[in-house]
Amino acid sequence: MTEKELICVNCPMGCRLTVTMEGKEVLSVKGNTCPRGEAYARQECVQPMRILTSTVRINNGTHRVLPVITEKEIPLELMEQAMAEVREITVDAPVEVDTVILENIAGTGVNLIASRSMKHA
Ligand code: SF4
Repeated sequence: MTEKELICVNCPMGCRLTVTMEGKEVLSVKGNTCPRGEAYARQECVQPMRILTSTVRINNGTHRVLPVITEKEIPLELMEQAMAEVREITVDAPVEVDTVILENIAGTGVNLIASRSMKHA
């Protein structure tokens, strides 16, 4: 059995969580004040997820790059593959906020969208 210490990031209380594991199986979570803490700890230990935020190149925009974000969290283990796809993207201005820039990033079923609008320069 192993123990992992985590801090829950779901609210400002930042509860300190202690997760007991047997191999890849979570046996118990302690230290959480509410059920969200346990769900977070289980997800984090079994398949950590993250929102990807980055930028892509944009032609004729008011800036050289356009900020982008995934609509939902994606598995942390696919972040490198997702970033490789992001680096290949160039879009043309103008772009509206929430426009889908890339569907199904890294095969996750999650879309990459523009996190701001950008006008033609
Ligand atoms: S366990 Fe609940 S109360 Fe504690 S930080 Fe997480 S969400 Fe907040």
